[in-house]
Amino acid sequence: MLILGIESSCDETGLALYDAAHDRLLAHALHSQIRMHQDYGGVVPELASRDHIRRTVPLLRQVLRESERTLGEIAAIAYTQGPGLAGALLVGAAFAEGLATALGVPVIPIHHLEGHLLSPLLSPRPPAFPFIALLVSGGHTQLMRVAGIGDYTLLGETLDDAAGEAFDKTAKLLGLPYPGGAALSELAQHGHPGAINFPRPMLNSGDLNFSFSGLKTAVLTKVREFGAPDDGQRADIARGFQDAIVEVLVKKAMRAVRNTGLNRLVVAGGVGANRELRRQLDARAARGAITVYYPELEFCTDNGAMIALAGALRFRAGLSIKAAGGFAVRPRWPLADLSAAVSGNQR
Ligand code: ATP
Ligand code: MG
Ligand code: FE
Repeated sequence: MLILGIESSCDETGLALYDAAHDRLLAHALHSQIRMHQDYGGVVPELASRDHIRRTVPLLRQVLRESERTLGEIAAIAYTQGPGLAGALLVGAAFAEGLATALGVPVIPIHHLEGHLLSPLLSPRPPAFPFIALLVSGGHTQLMRVAGIGDYTLLGETLDDAAGEAFDKTAKLLGLPYPGGAALSELAQHGHPGAINFPRPMLNSGDLNFSFSGLKTAVLTKVREFGAPDDGQRADIARGFQDAIVEVLVKKAMRAVRNTGLNRLVVAGGVGANRELRRQLDARAARGAITVYYPELEFCTDNGAMIALAGALRFRAGLSIKAAGGFAVRPRWPLADLSAAVSGNQR
């Protein structure tokens, strides 16, 4: 029971083969377009679409070769239907639907965020349901209660910028290349704790929502105050920014765990790779008898493995499997709409 997974929602082309019968990832391959977009300071949608077209077939060949499997063994094809860039999504969708038609197998359209929040299930020590998921990616910041496949309750989310977006915008203000999240975090290691204190937005709002646009403005104000900050000042700003955002994320995640009485927390999405976030979550968890689960570092950011996994789990549960052909992508797609979409109208 082989499931092919295809991810193409933004600037990463990811393909993977997952064995649903033996619960095993057989192979995965990724091409990141980051270098191509760096000159523009962000993702250029049309360039992204074209590059997905170039990369998909070679990456498919690669996963087949590495797993020593053939196209004929594929039982279903899972692909990211949304949310993401329309043109980029269309490449993956058209490829998946076309190949599935040719092979005579069904397709499984996947919600990109479902892929992210199930990604820790790819690790050797996977969490059991139910769990709280802190999804911190480039486009989203959400706290969710995850009861099972497709059973997601939104507990809180950002009212403006996503955590990854805040990292990237702050990195840009400090002159780091796009996407600067990881580089900013490196820079922060050289900064002095407490040298610069930024506000902790909505820390005590009493709910599980976030807001990060004010933090970004506070950084801008600080950068202007320095004029041209030297290396030490830039490191202090990075440190202050990271400490502020990490404190808010940790506090709210722990509050979600407490409110729901669960003791498992999953952290997914690119910002989940952040070392300081992991360090503080682990420290808090140890005190509160909570277990925190992270995806393997390579599966924090976009990849095909998480889409193949989500496809395999849905395939086994008989959820959202559809005949190939006649498809639409959903560039805007709140995760909260997912249950209704899969149980009701299946296109
Ligand atoms: P979405 O999944 O919401 O559509 P996305 O797919 O672009 O968005 P991801 O690929 O999950 O997001 O994550 C990318 C983000 O993670 C970028 O904003 C990047 O800067 C950030 N990121 C990656 N590594 C780190 C790190 N070590 N510290 C902080 N941020 C990081
Ligand atoms: Mg990306
Ligand atoms: Fe993503």
